[in-house]
Amino acid sequence: MKGTDSIRSLKGIGDKTEQIFHSAGIATVDDLVTLYPRYYLTYEEPVFIADAQPGIRIAVYGKITNALSYRQFRGLKITTCNIRDHSGSLGITWYNMPYMRKQLHQGDTRIFVGTPVMKNGRLVMEHPECYTQEAYEKQRQTLQPVYPLAKGLTNKMIVKAMSQTIPYMKHVEEYLPQTIVERYHLQAYGISLQNVHFPTKREDVIEAKKRLIFDEFFIFLAAMRMVKEKTGIVYNHYPIKETKESRHFMSQLPFRLTNAQRRALDEMIQDLRKEQVMNRLVQGDVGSGKTILAVILLLMTATNGYQGALMAPTEVLAVQHYETFCNMLEPYHIRIALLTGSTKAKEKQEIYQKLKDHELDLVIGTHALIQEKVEYHNLALVITDEQHRFGVRQREAFYRKGLEPHVLVMSATPIPRTLALIMYGDLDISIIDELPANRLPIKNCVVNTSYRPQAYRFIEKQVQLGHQVYVICPMVEESENMDAENVTEYTKILQQNLSPSVKIESLNGRMKATDKNRIMDDFGNGKIDVLVSTTVIEVGINVPNATVMMVENAERFGLAQLHQLRGRIGRGSSQSYCIFIQGKENEETKKRLEILNKSNDGFYIANEDLKLRGPGDFFGVRQSGMMDFVLADIYQNADMLKMANDAVELLEQQGFSFQNLQNEKLKKQLELSLQL
Ligand code: ADP
Ligand code: MG
Repeated sequence: MKGTDSIRSLKGIGDKTEQIFHSAGIATVDDLVTLYPRYYLTYEEPVFIADAQPGIRIAVYGKITNALSYRQFRGLKITTCNIRDHSGSLGITWYNMPYMRKQLHQGDTRIFVGTPVMKNGRLVMEHPECYTQEAYEKQRQTLQPVYPLAKGLTNKMIVKAMSQTIPYMKHVEEYLPQTIVERYHLQAYGISLQNVHFPTKREDVIEAKKRLIFDEFFIFLAAMRMVKEKTGIVYNHYPIKETKESRHFMSQLPFRLTNAQRRALDEMIQDLRKEQVMNRLVQGDVGSGKTILAVILLLMTATNGYQGALMAPTEVLAVQHYETFCNMLEPYHIRIALLTGSTKAKEKQEIYQKLKDHELDLVIGTHALIQEKVEYHNLALVITDEQHRFGVRQREAFYRKGLEPHVLVMSATPIPRTLALIMYGDLDISIIDELPANRLPIKNCVVNTSYRPQAYRFIEKQVQLGHQVYVICPMVEESENMDAENVTEYTKILQQNLSPSVKIESLNGRMKATDKNRIMDDFGNGKIDVLVSTTVIEVGINVPNATVMMVENAERFGLAQLHQLRGRIGRGSSQSYCIFIQGKENEETKKRLEILNKSNDGFYIANEDLKLRGPGDFFGVRQSGMMDFVLADIYQNADMLKMANDAVELLEQQGFSFQNLQNEKLKKQLELSLQL
């Protein structure tokens, strides 16, 4: 078996299954073995029933106190019983497993493993796994991988396919340079693969993940070196100066730039005149006013006779930026176009032609902007908003097209300076550590669902005052996972609970782009009062008149994400309010949400979050998912990041060339990591 073999070569994978794997991005054996578990189900020591909490998976050791009862309800076959230990009792329910009545009887003692939920005011464990004490002792040793699932793809299917790749894992070649493997005491690649998928004990996972996290960082950093080696020193072909238009624009701003904005802007104005091309990161917390800097720089670019581009991670944000730019730059007759995935083919062709002929000065869009077909006349400045890894990848993409523009990356991700220096390699860094003076700090509250009626009244009041409201739900529509609120149902509930004059609309990621854009437009123009949405609005959206953010099932989101969501309010001079609703209450999520309750500062939140999670959380679900790493987390694995950086520097000192790699597999990995 080779890594490049199609998964078709595995037993049990026919046309249909292959298609399902394909749509999850898995075509080859290598794709499969690098699909890592999201987390592991572990089997812990049983706890007392009295200590059970809703929403937390536990094991309890209990005696069945009654005969199992059986009934049918709405087509469901429901089997129930009660268990107890000396501390309390717990309900047990199985659906469509009538045979449980044959397997368990009154008086049996078993270990039940599951996640209790509240049902009619009582804790019930649904579908528990059930073990005798001996069987559980064995089970205690195991860790069951839980894979990220995609449509049609089940954990079972993945495990079945994965188990056939063990012979491959056993013989897979080591692709890191041997000096690195030895110096940093890394586990062999093949062993890490086996252990991450089929661990027999916890240490297996810890060791394997260490190696794989090292790899992720190493490949990222090495790819950065590769690009740097290729491009070498890049001279500034596009010196850009302030113009009368840019000065005029700045004198007409409806507000004063903060000192921090001013400082960052001055640094960039300097950069654009220097001998070498600009490569800069502007880091500033949500709402610190990064967009206006992009407007000024791109106006300078256009009025110096060059072209500029602004790239956003989502179409919704690209459209919003496009509108902001058209509005602000209207007096200066700058020719601007919007280019995204949903731009019609004909219009796309026109835009391509105009970019080539310099009939356009600025183009704003998603990464459609750097697709193969796009040619520019004289692209001098590229700005990316909220796209952390765009920096390196896009420089590579432009380099391939023979372009060497100035690059500015704008980000709200609060990365400590030492880590930012590594992650962003050769980027210079400006920090906007100040919010505009007209802002009132957001008022927060963390409450449970019983607070909803009050929240609705509050929303109603804010709408009466002329303000707007976001309500976030984790799901689009009702799903098997009944525990989380969904946009579709919630919109109806709000309609029933708010007066009919309140205009409510819903938005979700599955909608057509044109619909999404229309709704965001209407919300931006105040035609919608309350927007019920999934997290599609998370990044960058700016509607300063919105003053309330209500997040349902706040416990389901990571702190970084919640902070981004909250960043959608508090963008104007009115007092804003953030309401985090806890669907499931437990100590851990309470503690996490308390951090947000206490502070609106992204850096503080990232730090506290890290402390709470601790560095050793190797089995759990990763929260942040930041910077597109699969396993690695720059905060939690900061030590591995430093180690990988050290390794790359060491190789560089030894004259190792990342550009002319002999090792095909490493080469492929580096190239892959640069793809958009
Ligand atoms: P972010 O840094 O999150 O991208 P934006 O650039 O979207 O923030 O700015 C948020 C809001 O603050 C916008 O409405 C913008 O016009 C406004 N703004 C930016 N700079 C200032 C300032 N110096 N004083 C007052 N308001 C500002
Ligand atoms: Mg922004």
